[in-house]
Amino acid sequence: MKFETVIGLEVHAQLKTKSKIFCGCSTQFGSAPNSQTCQVCIGMPGVLPVLNRTAIEYIVKTGLAMNCRISPYSRFARKNYFYPDLPKGYQISQYELPVCEGGHVEFMVDGQLKKVGLTRIHLEEDAGKNLHEGIKDASHVDLNRTGVPLMEIVSEPDIRTPEEAAEYMRKLRTILRYIDVCDGNMEEGSLRCDANVSIRPVGQKEFGTRAELKNMNSFKNVAKAIEYEIRRQTQLIEDGGRVIQETRLWDANQGITISMRGKEEAHDYRYFPDPDLVPIEVSSSWLEEIRGTLPELPDAKKDRFVSQYGIPEYDAMVLTESRQMADYYERTAALSQPKLASNWIMGDVMRELKNDGAEIEDCPLTPENLSGMLKLIEDNTISGKIAKTVFEEIYRSGKTAEDVVREKGLVQITDDGAIIKVIEEVMAANPDKVADYRSGKDKLFGFFVGQVMKASGGKANPAKVNDLLREKLS
Ligand code: ADP
Ligand code: MG
Ligand code: ZN
Repeated sequence: MKFETVIGLEVHAQLKTKSKIFCGCSTQFGSAPNSQTCQVCIGMPGVLPVLNRTAIEYIVKTGLAMNCRISPYSRFARKNYFYPDLPKGYQISQYELPVCEGGHVEFMVDGQLKKVGLTRIHLEEDAGKNLHEGIKDASHVDLNRTGVPLMEIVSEPDIRTPEEAAEYMRKLRTILRYIDVCDGNMEEGSLRCDANVSIRPVGQKEFGTRAELKNMNSFKNVAKAIEYEIRRQTQLIEDGGRVIQETRLWDANQGITISMRGKEEAHDYRYFPDPDLVPIEVSSSWLEEIRGTLPELPDAKKDRFVSQYGIPEYDAMVLTESRQMADYYERTAALSQPKLASNWIMGDVMRELKNDGAEIEDCPLTPENLSGMLKLIEDNTISGKIAKTVFEEIYRSGKTAEDVVREKGLVQITDDGAIIKVIEEVMAANPDKVADYRSGKDKLFGFFVGQVMKASGGKANPAKVNDLLREKLS
């Protein structure tokens, strides 16, 4: 039997607010355990939460960027459960009236446009962290993260493959970083994902029973965990078994998912409206004010790059993955040929950044210096090949391409006389090859080009070398 996979993602994105959602404690990552806590976020009885206005602005901004309906009226609910890292015994979340509903996100997979619907985006507080490692006979609890504002972005079950799931996550991250509401750092847990996975026989309308996968901390692991889960469920059904609804933990070291607990249903949580918090009202004037803070979004920027700079769709997509990358490109393309700029940024610049584990913001080569080099290629001062050497020289040093070319005597030889001189030397040194070529061994042409380029120290203009060689050899 052939099966089809159905996937829905619940993504938790930590908001970049300076303080927590219901108190004034800092949200700074990596501080000493329990140093960023107060009576409110550690759940003392009798205290009252006060909502952080910026958290609402950020979720509304996100909803607008993801084509959602923004509810003019929404409210918080208590989700009751017990964990050592949740001192109140309930999490403040949203249930029947979330801030954002509907919406969709689009992205490319294998050259095809894929659209994934959103069910909702709601606001909630994060829980703390239990620490087990390196502590003997005990577990410790760090409540610094308790009360940090989270958005939960729930997708419709529209995703069909592990690659689509990873690309969907990437696109969410790109948008969240563009609108500057979440830093998108998966290792630090600012962006986390639970993947709901089920399979069904091809052609069947009803969904199969799903397992919920947790604990994937990179795009790669999201895809790997889902791949594993598809194999596990397929095997199970083919062996005559049944998938049970449960939560499974991804173990990256072993590359498998492990059953953690049976899946709770919503009614198990005894949701009810939180009596300590007033409802949230987003007036149309506030909504418009927030809309006004939206930057140009990645899809719109990509389309503009294609029409304004005449670069291929693929280049435009890669270059608009972050706002900083897009800005770097635009500053470079303003001063040099746009397609040349995109080739060098997508190739050499991105390779260096990757080697250094750096982001474009930290790139030591300024757009001005890069375009300075590109101009030397455009006006034939240096060849594309010499440019590779120049690039290495200028990337970290801050020197200009002009200085390097002058210092090292790398100026391209475009003078016909000088090139002919080299050609004649090469021909004189290889009389048999010249004879062979003239008697029909066309393939030798490449040999002569190579020799001339070598003899000129790579500096001869390749197009001229080709033309003049043909003339001299014939
Ligand atoms: P819960 O909050 O209990 O996990 P939801 O009904 O909110 O449950 O669904 C969570 C996610 O699971 C959503 O992203 C939804 O698209 C996805 N989902 C629901 N049913 C299935 C299914 N049968 N297979 C795969 N994903 C599913
Ligand atoms: Mg869930
Ligand atoms: Zn606090």
